[in-house]
Amino acid sequence: MPELPEVETIRRQLAPHLAGRRIVAATVLDSRWCEPAAPSELADAVEGREVLAVGRRGKYFDVDLAGEVHLVMHLRMTGNLLLVPPGDEQERPYVRVRFELDDGATVLFADPRRFGTGLVLLGDSARDEYFAQRLGVEPLSADFTAAALQAEAKGRRSPVKAFLLSQERIAGVGNIYADEALFRARIHPLRAVGTLKRPQVEALHAGVIESLEAGIDARGASIDDFRHTDGARGSFQDRFMVHRREGEPCPRCGTEIVKLRAAGRGTYICPKCQPRPRARS
Ligand SMILES: [Zn+2]
Repeated sequence: MPELPEVETIRRQLAPHLAGRRIVAATVLDSRWCEPAAPSELADAVEGREVLAVGRRGKYFDVDLAGEVHLVMHLRMTGNLLLVPPGDEQERPYVRVRFELDDGATVLFADPRRFGTGLVLLGDSARDEYFAQRLGVEPLSADFTAAALQAEAKGRRSPVKAFLLSQERIAGVGNIYADEALFRARIHPLRAVGTLKRPQVEALHAGVIESLEAGIDARGASIDDFRHTDGARGSFQDRFMVHRREGEPCPRCGTEIVKLRAAGRGTYICPKCQPRPRARS
């Protein structure tokens, strides 16, 4: 499932091709994509409009169109945005939505499992409200500080991994980057987040940022369906420190990495670097 670095990778690839272009046609082939809006409503809202910028908030794309019209898209499990150059007639599988641009290029939303979504929000304030209701702090922004993380964690008994996965706490972190951040910070995923001491909160803050930046540097992780706008794969899956490396040596101490379940997800740790929290007496 694409997380912040994968979405940011696509955003960076799309932005220079979309900014300043006009959407001449928007064809929603699978009406489930934009439910409850009808495909014609979505098309009417975006057709003829110039793309001012391609933004991102958490795992959402925010395509900023002229007149404060926002096309907000989410890839969910298996969605991909593909950029097809003018004149390329090759068929792509699983296409659910097609955006034709005024230079002849096409942006396709392809999605084999069909969980991806799109919607239109009218007005910057509607966009701000939509994200504010769903998303916490943006982890690569100046608002994400160790002090802010500590304030958010205070008094909470939820396991730190579940906390990291909560989009309304920290936007954009998913299973891969939570595992990598906890390993960097030497914190066990089942530790109650409110019990972390200040140095651990600081280590976790740094670990989240470092793992997300490493993912962006590698242009995302392609462990399943994630692809770049030209169909190429990311390379972060080759740089995981613990995620999906069960039975392999810890890159720090050589202990065998183990898999456990935390927050309902397959979770990978070094049992020596990330000791299990002691039971409270
Ligand atoms: Zn280790």
